Amino acid sequence: MAVMTPIDVVELTRALVRSESPSGRESPAAALLEQALLDLGYDRVWRDEAGNVLGEIVRGEGPTLMLNGHLDTVPAGDLDSWQHPPFAGVLDGGRVWGRGACDMKGPIAAMAVAGAHAAADSIAGRILMTGVVQEEVGGLGARHLAATQRADVVIVGEPSDLRLMLGHRGRVEVHATFPGRLAHAAKAELGENALSRAARFVRELEALDLPEAPLLGRSTATATQIRSFPEDGPNVVPGRATLTIDYRNVPEDTRDRIVERLRALDAGAAIDVPTEAFVSEDGRVVMDLRRENGAYLLADDDASVSTAHSAISEALGRDIGIGTWWFATDAPHLAAMGAPVLGFGPGDPELAHTQREHVRVEQLRDAAIAYRALIGAFLAVAS
Ligand SMILES: [Zn+2]
Repeated sequence: MAVMTPIDVVELTRALVRSESPSGRESPAAALLEQALLDLGYDRVWRDEAGNVLGEIVRGEGPTLMLNGHLDTVPAGDLDSWQHPPFAGVLDGGRVWGRGACDMKGPIAAMAVAGAHAAADSIAGRILMTGVVQEEVGGLGARHLAATQRADVVIVGEPSDLRLMLGHRGRVEVHATFPGRLAHAAKAELGENALSRAARFVRELEALDLPEAPLLGRSTATATQIRSFPEDGPNVVPGRATLTIDYRNVPEDTRDRIVERLRALDAGAAIDVPTEAFVSEDGRVVMDLRRENGAYLLADDDASVSTAHSAISEALGRDIGIGTWWFATDAPHLAAMGAPVLGFGPGDPELAHTQREHVRVEQLRDAAIAYRALIGAFLAVAS
């Protein structure tokens, strides 16, 4: 017997929160979203090779608007530190609580419901609702989606407190390895200390004048970790040391430029951005990815920005404002399709990844209204 899934935005958010879906093991949430899209009346619903859920509504000829969210969440951490259990979908104080409530099962629920409502409006084109896997760990799902689908405009529903977002800085994990020469620490003058070399590098790194972009501020480079070799040699002058740098980049500051800039600080250091293999849940899609999430910034004079800003502001009866996220998203991966990517979602971004994660019911309902207005604006029937 088929069990009906909730088609109310609040109940769907709660059901998705209850469907625990850590990165790489999203199928419980994927199955629930699939069923919800069918119950909501989407014309066609399917899952691709990567495990992403897609649902389509086609009304005549026109452009494709992609609505996008990620199905995976970060881990809940220490369960005792949660006020409400993280996978119970508790509704309390006008808020849905739990891991993924705002990042981003609430936004997915609002987009899914809005698509169904918009299907009854006068529109021309295709609504493509997408729930992707592995956003929190490399973006395999969105990268696969961008390689296999087409869209004319994309809305990423990451939490934005209902503001319009144009992008974010990227993150590049750089490893700098310094050579040295082993010696007895009591005769340190006979060796060459790789840590001394790393220390000089950190001082120069902190003095770098890095590029800036409108709305995003400057690139930043922060030394975060160091390992010296041999690791079990407290009385040995290290012969090698590897420093990890968390580099947050603006779009023009590409990986090649970053590597070149850091290499100039010490010609003898080996600078690289390591790769890692990512595999979809059932093993059908495998990607070797750099430890890097691209930067993205949509030009504020792009026609889609004013269309979205006025459609949502009008629907919600206030100026929603325009900004950027301080964290990375799937936007740069989806931008590979060549379409403008806009950000808008319910929920306070500061709550994402915390033990206080929740989303306000009022924002969920406003988001569903706003997404419906966005669909109406981008898939407007030509007059
Ligand atoms: Zn997110």
